[in-house]
Amino acid sequence: MAESVREVIILGSGPAGLTAALYAARANLAPLVLHGPQPGGQLTTTTMVENYPGFTEGILGPDLMAVMEKQAVRFGAEVRTAQVTKVDFARAPYRLFVGEEEFRARAVIIATGASAKTLGLARESELMGYGLSTCATCDGAFFRGQVIVVVGGGDSAAEEALFLTKFGSRVLMVHRRDELRASKIMAKRVLEHPKIEMVWDSTIEQLLGDKKAGITGIVIRNTKTNKTSELACGAVFYGIGHTPNTALFKGILEMDENGYLITKPGRTATKIPGIFACGDVQDHYYRQAVTAAGSGCMGAIEAERYLSEHGG
Ligand code: NAP
Repeated sequence: MAESVREVIILGSGPAGLTAALYAARANLAPLVLHGPQPGGQLTTTTMVENYPGFTEGILGPDLMAVMEKQAVRFGAEVRTAQVTKVDFARAPYRLFVGEEEFRARAVIIATGASAKTLGLARESELMGYGLSTCATCDGAFFRGQVIVVVGGGDSAAEEALFLTKFGSRVLMVHRRDELRASKIMAKRVLEHPKIEMVWDSTIEQLLGDKKAGITGIVIRNTKTNKTSELACGAVFYGIGHTPNTALFKGILEMDENGYLITKPGRTATKIPGIFACGDVQDHYYRQAVTAAGSGCMGAIEAERYLSEHGG
């Protein structure tokens, strides 16, 4: 039996989803927030957030998300763990399915975010959680005193490498080029850190180890000389960017070549009236908590206006 039709359902509980929930709740829309297995989104896998305005000393990512949720709930938002498995946006009210369970809403705000990319190496899925990780905050402490490898040259990889220096005896940053993509301040911190060593112009060819022993090493290839060599290590952390979580909307909503949802310029409205997208799922450029929160606010305001113009 389907629930009654909601005014607005929000998919995702990262900064975009929860800010949309706060604004929609304060507009008396009683939003329902549905989220998957990672409530709070990517910020819950980070440590100190130093660039979210309002926190002079920074705030831990999970703490920031917990207060955002509390604030939205205080105004009447409902937050539920329910992984949406199918959507039907053919006509309003729009339908969202969690297995057999059906939810309906007059407007939907998509804030499903993005997920960490992997390299697609053999045995990746076997070794994930056994020395291989995409989340330094979650798993770093397991590798105290060991050599830790971080892959990538952007801000994520830099942040992971710096965090992992707390635990690793050495942190090797394996990057496919000879220049970091990371912002100047992060690159400087990495390059000057006594525990971090750069392994330039190198890609990982193979993960060594097994479930019992965990990761024991990697085989790398130098992209300039094409030579391969083995590096002993106890853990490998991927920090190579993200993929938008848009599989649910394939063939339904417009996407760019990388799968990010396309919205009207400067807006969160998609091509389907009443369906909005905000945060990292439609922003591959800024990808910051504060910009995601800002676009969540935009999504809620646009949804509210849409609903009042359409008999809400
Ligand atoms: P990113 O900027 O896209 O960097 C991804 C890195 O991984 C690049 O160095 C890239 O190499 C490398 N890479 C990608 N695919 C690879 C592959 N298949 N094999 C080997 N290496 C691969 O992603 P990000 O670091 O996640 O950052 C995304 C955005 O979020 C950026 O705007 C960033 O500033 C922001 N961010 C900010 C913070 C912060 O301020 N604290 C923290 C995290 C992220 P190439 O350089 O050769 O392309």
